Amino acid sequence: MQTETIAIHAGNLIHSTTGDVTQPLSLSTTFYRDENGGYPGGYVYSRVSNPNRSALEKVMADLEKGVDACAFSSGNTAGMTVFQALLPGSHIIAPDDMYWGFKKQLQSIFEGILTIDFIDLTQISNIESHIKSNTVMIWAETPSNPLLKITDLVAVAAIARKNHLIFACDSTFASPCFQNPILLGADIVMHSSTKYIGGHSDVLGGILVTASKNEFWEKIRNIQQIGGAVPSPFDCFLLLRSIKTLPYRMRGHAENGMALAKYLSVHPKIEAVYYPGLPSHPQHEIAKKQMSSFGGMLSVLVNGDARKVVNQVKLFAQATSLGGVESLIEHRASVEGPDTKTPQNLIRISVGLEHINDLIADIEQALS
Ligand SMILES: *Cc1c(COP(=O)(O)O)cnc(C)c1O
Repeated sequence: MQTETIAIHAGNLIHSTTGDVTQPLSLSTTFYRDENGGYPGGYVYSRVSNPNRSALEKVMADLEKGVDACAFSSGNTAGMTVFQALLPGSHIIAPDDMYWGFKKQLQSIFEGILTIDFIDLTQISNIESHIKSNTVMIWAETPSNPLLKITDLVAVAAIARKNHLIFACDSTFASPCFQNPILLGADIVMHSSTKYIGGHSDVLGGILVTASKNEFWEKIRNIQQIGGAVPSPFDCFLLLRSIKTLPYRMRGHAENGMALAKYLSVHPKIEAVYYPGLPSHPQHEIAKKQMSSFGGMLSVLVNGDARKVVNQVKLFAQATSLGGVESLIEHRASVEGPDTKTPQNLIRISVGLEHINDLIADIEQALS
């Protein structure tokens, strides 16, 4: 089945006898046992699993072309679970512009437990020289945050396979609609479902999807169920509701993203536009090969005071995060703090689903 059909039907698991067309919200934390001590519905206790989470995991595994998924209470927890599943003393290779929150986790929470090389994964020939005897994983993020760098997933997967490394990919910016890293050789795909998957800036969540149910995946499932950083049934219900329209929302985000990128790329007040859909993007050819569309995220370098521009917009909300129906704009360096490498004149834009003419008019007045 095609993405639109999977999005609507794969997560609609109905156990009730009341004839519901859409899956009801199951708030029960505990489930009846039968006279033999078994669990006739397959559910025991809602930290371990519950019907709404099972449905979310099913539709995400299907959308990402994997075999199983684990849902978490945030994207950060989803990523942290992968790092927790590695043996102490392991070395991992991560991107130099890795999502800021993960970089912070690895440098603070995993200090003394894991060692990390943050390298430019767009330089494929550079990767192998960083592999050591204790290297166990390559973590990619494409498109990356906030520079929209594109990592060649097929090329990195080949290096990972040759060196027996786990290959994980944060695919949040692409959504499962525009890129399926498992089909390109990744072992694990990660999403912050707070972003496009939720799509309405009103639910926090994270997802991991696996290409195979191996020992490493069992560790991840164990950390989810025993660690317990799980989403509530209501979080899952909201995400399931959102996923039904995900493919159509993504088309709108991509259409507006491309139009805004084109408009800004010839604007005299803009020094550079980072958008993988523009032929001027250094990895445009790779993006064309591995993505079916380029999404709704872009960053620009402003000729002048970027903070002034984000204070002048009226329709764009000056706020962090991304992937919602409403357009957001952000001066990224001031969010990331004093030790950031993000340029001071960089603005990150999450292009929403408003009419493109209104968005362009707003940016135009802010830039002038
Ligand atoms: C937001 C984000 C995360 C973290 O997800 P949370 O849901 O905020 O915990 C991870 N990776 C990327 C690319 C993100 O944009």
